[in-house]
Amino acid sequence: MMALEHEELHVRRGERTGLYVIIAVHSTRLGPALGGARLWHYTTPGDGVADALRLASAMTLKAAAAGLDLGGGKCVICAEGEIAGGRRRELMLDLGDAVGELEGRYITAEDVGTSSADMALVAERTEHVVGLPAELGGRGDPGPLTARGVEAAIRACLAHRYGDPDPARRRVCVVGLGHVGLDLSERLAAAGAELTVTDIDPDRRQDARRLGARWVHADRAAEVQCDVLAPCALGGAVHDGNVEALRCGIVCGSANNVLADDTLAERLHSREIVYAPDFIANAGGLINVYGELHGLDQHRVDELVDGIGPVVEAVLAEAARRGDTPLGTARTLARERLGHAGGRDRAPARLSA
Ligand code: NAD
Repeated sequence: MMALEHEELHVRRGERTGLYVIIAVHSTRLGPALGGARLWHYTTPGDGVADALRLASAMTLKAAAAGLDLGGGKCVICAEGEIAGGRRRELMLDLGDAVGELEGRYITAEDVGTSSADMALVAERTEHVVGLPAELGGRGDPGPLTARGVEAAIRACLAHRYGDPDPARRRVCVVGLGHVGLDLSERLAAAGAELTVTDIDPDRRQDARRLGARWVHADRAAEVQCDVLAPCALGGAVHDGNVEALRCGIVCGSANNVLADDTLAERLHSREIVYAPDFIANAGGLINVYGELHGLDQHRVDELVDGIGPVVEAVLAEAARRGDTPLGTARTLARERLGHAGGRDRAPARLSA
């Protein structure tokens, strides 16, 4: 049975579509709960609820660790198959109504399965939405900012592990050349790193050539001898089956849930592989929408994203002092920030449907 430490859980059937819109608010202690709306197929609505609860608590940690005045929340919409055209518009209006009912305690944004064009429709029903298209005041693709934050995290890891933050001549293996991974590779190539890259999409080889990077088959990426392994594809890049085969000094990338399970943090630690917790390293995307929410200019947003570097440095130093894993220490520090916050006392879980 999951211990429910969340403040609110709302389950609504959209009045237009009849689809379940589930909103979990984990914490508003540091500010309104912000987290994207995931449109996904779930076997049962109960699975969607469980996912929303899990993702919402992860958002609380991410915002707290990044030093943002935001809480953690997430929306899950349970849907099967492609939803397009008029029905998609109806679904986004249903989402907007559900978000609006929370009166700003939860702010939604795009996530897996939703886009900034969807958020423009949500905005017809509620003001509590970010991740809008540029013409509506949004900040566009967060990938480049996320990449900027991952580079800052890599530099902090290099300083901790090798005594020098400079990526020049460091061997870095980037796994996944999508929105984040390609931008990160360009940044690292410009900084003089020796790059190895991979993607399951063979068309990405042309990017490798352009960057002067070595290409490796995706199945072999974990075994590449390198200073930094940067997982920028899907979750679970480090798992039970490859953790002993890793030949890197650092694991630091943008992927959510880099570790297939938390016990792997101990295994990396015992092999003296430095792990930058994913929820800190990839916070650039969240900072991007935070900037949109508060109308921050690009310079200030860049400063906040560059602040990921000192956060990683502090976590690694404190973890070394405590003899703890960076993951354990990052969680402890984020929870301490939550504990010290002057926000409202944790409300008992409020369930409504
Ligand atoms: P994306 O879909 O644009 O790119 C992912 C790339 O990984 C694709 O090119 C895909 O072909 C490749 N890929 C998939 N499986 C692979 C595998 N097994 N081996 C090698 N390559 C593989 O996604 P993105 O927006 O670049 O995000 C990358 C990761 O970072 C995701 O885990 C995402 O959740 C996380 N993230 C992204 C952002 C952001 O701003 N986009 C912010 C925070 C976290």
